[in-house]
Amino acid sequence: MRADALLFHDDFRLAPYWWDAAPPETSRVALPPSVDLVIVGSGYCGLSAAAEAARQGASVAVLDAAEIGAGGSTRSGGMVSSGQKLALTDAIRGVSAERLGRLMAESTASFDYLKRLIADEALDADLQITGRFFGAFTPGHFERLRRQGDLLREKTGVTAHVVTRAEQRVMVGSDYYYGGILVDEYGGLHTAKYHRALRELARRCGASLHSHAAVERIERTGTRFRVHTARGKIDAGQVLVATNGYTGRLLPFFSRRVLPVASYQIATEPLPPGLMEVLNPGRRMISDSKRNLFYTRPSPDGTRMLFGSRPSFREIGERAAARILHAKMVQLWPALRDVRITHAWKGYVAMTGDKLAHIGERDGVFYALGCNGNGVALMTYLGQRIARTLLGLDAVPGAFGEGPFPLSPGGMASTLIVPVGAALYQLDDCWNGRVRGALS
Ligand SMILES: Cc1cc2nc3c(=O)[nH]c(=O)nc-3n(C[C@H](O)[C@H](O)[C@H](O)COP(=O)(O)OP(=O)(O)OC[C@H]3O[C@@H](n4cnc5c(N)ncnc54)[C@H](O)[C@@H]3O)c2cc1C
Repeated sequence: MRADALLFHDDFRLAPYWWDAAPPETSRVALPPSVDLVIVGSGYCGLSAAAEAARQGASVAVLDAAEIGAGGSTRSGGMVSSGQKLALTDAIRGVSAERLGRLMAESTASFDYLKRLIADEALDADLQITGRFFGAFTPGHFERLRRQGDLLREKTGVTAHVVTRAEQRVMVGSDYYYGGILVDEYGGLHTAKYHRALRELARRCGASLHSHAAVERIERTGTRFRVHTARGKIDAGQVLVATNGYTGRLLPFFSRRVLPVASYQIATEPLPPGLMEVLNPGRRMISDSKRNLFYTRPSPDGTRMLFGSRPSFREIGERAAARILHAKMVQLWPALRDVRITHAWKGYVAMTGDKLAHIGERDGVFYALGCNGNGVALMTYLGQRIARTLLGLDAVPGAFGEGPFPLSPGGMASTLIVPVGAALYQLDDCWNGRVRGALS
């Protein structure tokens, strides 16, 4: 591994690259004494729900324990999905064909919803529909991706192209993969600019946003709620929990069902002129078929490489993670060996027992949680859906509101299960690495 002085840029920061353009916001405005709806969590889900409910005439207060937007939403890769994860993971195991069809249709609807929202509200989000290349780590994975491409085409109507190894340099300037598939209906946005635009939208619709107001207890008072926060109490007609990967022990029902898992990313300094065109000619979103996958994309202005993966079985510091991520990035693109890192950060994704997001109501408290690392479009969409449900505007919450919300083994014993689960993933990738070694 390279010496730190060569690896880290002089301006290196332990913060998301995205925050340079649009940092999270401190908002210490006084809490209102009473509102129709309190929303716990100020990510895409909470803000989207707030905008919808306020637009419908409800008085809404969004409360966040930290700064507004300091959670997963502004820490993500900003890849905008039309629902492939449902087919490309084993989330669909045990789901009836009928429900699977509706889950996929709603995932596609979330992609369309996000595009429409950004266009209709003129949100400054740097959205670019570029497509996403899924690279095959082994020849066997290539065959699996080819089959999954067929399934996607059939179930969601997306355009999935098979890309052979001989053709793949049009997608990724590397021989690391054994071909893959390209899905056209996929894009990327600027996570923090999009969040800032959603904040402005929620406020324009009439919602108030409050940072540093951790919700410590939710007390039932007859048909209403008293919400106890670090900054005082609010009386609320309804409560929505939108805490995703930052779900703590506020309500045991949720902490037993959602497992926060850290995900890490780095950003490089601007690349030498012409290099991005070689490494990622279409400026696409790229990920792969490994369990502990690489996910990478250019910054929206096309100058820097952003790269994410899980660096270790256990949670580690961002600086140590950055060294490992840089080494992984160089496996994919040896030409980036001498390019320095300017930013390293982590955020928490919310894993669930069945790998599906869930929306609904429990003991009078509404929730939208558990996007399993696929939340830019989905949590925006589910926020709006759950708002319409709790206001009584939609009779049913949709496919993500059906079925039981199963216990998550990890959520129940997170300190033990995460390392074990991660270790199994790593073993699987090691085995596949040996398969690759034998082929090369
Ligand atoms: C590193 C990383 C990369 C990702 N990459 C992608 C990607 O490329 N594409 C994609 O689609 N998705 C991706 N995701 C997933 C996705 O972007 C987010 O998880 C999603 O935006 C979650 O939105 P949210 O509104 O549900 O929650 P968040 O944005 O995480 O917000 C939850 C908020 O709840 C607050 N909170 C928690 N408890 C309390 C409390 N008691 N009181 C008050 N506030 C509380 C937290 O402070 C936090 O701000 C990624 C996630 C991470 C972390």
